[in-house]
Amino acid sequence: MGIETAGGFEGLFSEAGGTARFQNALVDWFRSVGRDYPWRRTRDPYSIFVSEAMLQQTQVATVLGRGYFTRWMAAFPTWGDLAAATEGEVLKQWEGLGYYNRARNLRKTAQIVIRDFGGRFPEDFETILTLPGVGRYTAGAVTSFAFNRRAAIVDGNVSRVFSRLFAFAEPIDTSSGHRVMWDWAEALTPETDPGLYNSALMELGQRICLRASPNCPVCPVRSWCAAGLQGTALEFPVKKGGRAITVRQERVILAVKNHRILLCPETGPRRKGLWRLPEITFEESADLAELFRFDYTITRYRVTLMVFQHTGSPPEREPEGACWFAAGRDEEMPAIGSPYRKAIKMFSEFRDGLPIKG
Ligand code: SF4
Repeated sequence: MGIETAGGFEGLFSEAGGTARFQNALVDWFRSVGRDYPWRRTRDPYSIFVSEAMLQQTQVATVLGRGYFTRWMAAFPTWGDLAAATEGEVLKQWEGLGYYNRARNLRKTAQIVIRDFGGRFPEDFETILTLPGVGRYTAGAVTSFAFNRRAAIVDGNVSRVFSRLFAFAEPIDTSSGHRVMWDWAEALTPETDPGLYNSALMELGQRICLRASPNCPVCPVRSWCAAGLQGTALEFPVKKGGRAITVRQERVILAVKNHRILLCPETGPRRKGLWRLPEITFEESADLAELFRFDYTITRYRVTLMVFQHTGSPPEREPEGACWFAAGRDEEMPAIGSPYRKAIKMFSEFRDGLPIKG
């Protein structure tokens, strides 16, 4: 099968059997050097679905190396266990991974699987696509990895590989750029072992076709790659330009009493169920000692978090819904957003044994 490319480069793809040879070269490479992850050793849709939810926006090193996947599977080994868990329990297991809607959607999906599908995850791509938070990528990944059915996938890694394979001179972060990536993905996904091929494609993007340092000399598909052959890999992908970053400041207090720390519930649908340090205004911070500050980024905001110590007596005006939690005992703490957890950790080190240590 030959494929048409927007950039006019068809190379070896245009030869008879060229696409099949590309698929084989990629899969053969993956069979010999592909990494062994727990979700690659199984066809269990639950394990695969959980891993895909975690790996959106998060590196494998975090998901595996910091034990998130293992702990999750121990806490909620089946759809039924997850469906029966409270939102607080689910968010606590997810704590630190960020983008908490992924965890909420996993729980909702588990409830749908139990309620509507008798505990069996649906095998049909279109049905999977209707589950909460599931887009074309996740539906394609689960369909191909769990059921070995032909379904294309496109994520950031795959887009980068394709943009280089075909020296795609248009921005990939536009609707027409997305369409082209998906068209190529559909055209290149094989009928045989599509799950293996998709894993290989993703691993190529993660390990060889790196954003800043593509390793073209050892790449298994270099013979098919326009940018690799022309030595122009770093010119791709072309992007329309990043979103403008908005800078803002956020002031919070660390109020500690009897080894307990004051936290208040987050508001807004994206962060519902999480807890945070109480926010104060510029005026309220005027008489307080600033302990430290650091920057964090969330969506399009770069936030400077300024942490103030509430000395002496507890705050006169506790924020609505605020509670005191045992700071030294993780099992008694609720799920806390990453910047505030970092601030509490820094404070405990900063104070070196003072009340927060419990
Ligand atoms: Fe990426 Fe280079 Fe391989 Fe092309 S040859 S896919 S640019 S690593």
